[in-house]
Amino acid sequence: MTAMQHISVWLDVPLRGAFTYLHPQPLPSGQRVRVAFGNRELCGVVDNSVPPQALDEARCKPILAVLNELPPLPEALLQQVRFAARYYLHPQGQALFTALPTALREPRAVTLADRQSYRLNAAGLDAEPSARSTVQRQLWQALQQPQSRDALRRVHPQATAFLKQRLAAGHIDILPWQAPPLQIAAALTLNDEQQAALDAVAANLGRFGAFLLHGITGSGKTEVYLQLIARVLAAGQQALVIIPEINLTPQLIERFAQRFPASHIVCLHSGLSDGERLQGWVDAWQGVADIVIGTRLAVFTPLPRAGLVIVDEEHDGSFKQQDGLRYHARDLAVWRANQAQVPVLLGSATPSLETLANVEAGRYRKLLLSARAHGSARLPRIGLVDTRRLKLVDGLSEPVIAALQQRLERREMSLLFINRRGYSPVLACTACGWTSACKHCSARMVLHLSARQLRCHHCGAQQRVPLQCPACGNPDVQPLGEGTQRLEEALRRLLPEARILRIDRDSTSHKAAWDAVYQRVHAGEVDILLGTQMLAKGHDFGALSLVVVLGSDGGLYSADYRASERLFAQLLQVSGRAGRAELAGDVIVQTNWPEHPLYLALTRHDFDGFAASQLQERREAGFPPAASQVILRADAPQYHEAEAFLQQVLALCGELPSPLFVFGPAPALMARLAGRERAQLTFEAPQRAALHAWLRALLPQLDALARKAPRQLRWSLDVDPQEI
Ligand code: ADP
Ligand code: ZN
Ligand code: ZN
Repeated sequence: MTAMQHISVWLDVPLRGAFTYLHPQPLPSGQRVRVAFGNRELCGVVDNSVPPQALDEARCKPILAVLNELPPLPEALLQQVRFAARYYLHPQGQALFTALPTALREPRAVTLADRQSYRLNAAGLDAEPSARSTVQRQLWQALQQPQSRDALRRVHPQATAFLKQRLAAGHIDILPWQAPPLQIAAALTLNDEQQAALDAVAANLGRFGAFLLHGITGSGKTEVYLQLIARVLAAGQQALVIIPEINLTPQLIERFAQRFPASHIVCLHSGLSDGERLQGWVDAWQGVADIVIGTRLAVFTPLPRAGLVIVDEEHDGSFKQQDGLRYHARDLAVWRANQAQVPVLLGSATPSLETLANVEAGRYRKLLLSARAHGSARLPRIGLVDTRRLKLVDGLSEPVIAALQQRLERREMSLLFINRRGYSPVLACTACGWTSACKHCSARMVLHLSARQLRCHHCGAQQRVPLQCPACGNPDVQPLGEGTQRLEEALRRLLPEARILRIDRDSTSHKAAWDAVYQRVHAGEVDILLGTQMLAKGHDFGALSLVVVLGSDGGLYSADYRASERLFAQLLQVSGRAGRAELAGDVIVQTNWPEHPLYLALTRHDFDGFAASQLQERREAGFPPAASQVILRADAPQYHEAEAFLQQVLALCGELPSPLFVFGPAPALMARLAGRERAQLTFEAPQRAALHAWLRALLPQLDALARKAPRQLRWSLDVDPQEI
């Protein structure tokens, strides 16, 4: 009897180790297999870099099937997953299955499109069909050149039968996929800044380098991407472009398809069926796809000939996965580019402070596009309307109504942007500008009306709601943020002749719905576009002449220290919608805080100044990117259950080695979600490496503690959290 091999296999289960199974022969790393686990059958992936457990054969189960219709998963993917699992303190098996398309997570073989080419060999050329069988002759003639199955079917529908018969007769050579010759449609002539950006990255092709392309909206970043990709394709390489889901519009895909009409472009996004996603993923992996454009999950797409990685709108919050493996697609993209020794280009009009800190530290190189690419397009004028002394009609001030009325008369389109994001209520004094800051943590305390308390969600400190302003004695202390429910109705009443289009989540979740919105907007059927966050993203609504911003004050004094960064980015992005074409645009921000430095910077379009002051604040407060954070979250039906678990973790931690800190337990900002109470511990350190190493060493004990916790308790670790 031959000795069975012990083989390490990753499974999609919440345990940190790999499992050991038996097989008569060795199997390569990356091989998908079917195995029994408990009373289920699961898909597993072989990993020979993990030593198998030296278990008695009698206690080990055999591998049930080797799923080898595809080659083993590439080593580069396994490495990326290994890194991600380690960095994000997540079970590696689960991380691996997160990275795979759904179809490959199942313990079943998959079927794929035929990407081979076929050509007659010498015997086939000799076996010429008679002149009377015209179809056969047609196909036979076509097959004198290499043909894909699809191309041959376009010659004649009977191609499949013909091919089968000729293959059986041994008349056909099978050739690997052959890319059609590259075609590049005419490009725009770059302006000097675009050219400098292109040259800088192009000079770096073939090795790692991280670049920030900081270009205001409409400055022609996409054109720079396209021309860089042209070089990469010309060198026979592949390009990976990661973008936020909401930006993955038909218009964008069309721009790529027009520029590279013969190239195989794969789009990976959440709207695909499992089969479509699988095919795109495999095409990329097998080198059939030239360009992969996708949302955050696309960062795991294997590319054997990667030449360039692009992350567009790199500041966008959607790049951070908020459950399971809580990875950040931008950060993994940079890691990947380094691993593949290719350049990575991060583009944004409002770069994240993380990226700017990397520029300051000399790790990333900044390339600037400071003007709009369209010669005639100018930046909008941004004005503030001080609402402290104005009477509002359903949240609208007189100057705003007048401005909307004026555009209506001129038949120009306006956009009304409502900042509705769930900022937790912070208390503020209407007279002196005092806000409810925490004494212990340079975070702001949040109003909990039911308990009549202010609570710090960072350290857990509590105090009673003050009856008057602690700074000036003014009794009028109010929560920030205003209701926006009645706004659409108010508009319809105030401007009855206006054609109003409301854009909400429903109208953007389907491609067809977006197309309808676009059509109406571009057909000139809309006077006022009304909506929330999704309007701030990179859509081109054509000739917008007025943008009105309402309800943004809540972001000025949020308990979340990232709120001002997000607010500024959002306001600058939404302002960028104004005056895109030949029309100079106006932006009006309605606010109670017209002297706030954020708004003053906004009116000057001063992103750099604002970002520098924010970075400085973060450094002084010891918040990211000046420090590294990991949040341990727990939730349960009752708050005390979640808190008790975190108290046990605290006890486990004991005294933290300097300079590591732990704060909490404290309620999460969204303290109650879906009927569950949420609490958290925040770990912080000036250096990431020390913090991660310490937490990694703690994991076995943490896992053991969690196994003893009540069933209803759920917990997770969030490395580099974006939401507090
Ligand atoms: P961004 O991606 O920075 O928002 P785009 O690449 O979409 O900017 O460019 C904005 C507009 O300017 C587009 O209509 C684009 O065709 C045009 N554009 C870009 N670069 C140039 C250029 N060098 N010359 C003329 N027009 C340009
Ligand atoms: Zn006051
Ligand atoms: Zn505090």
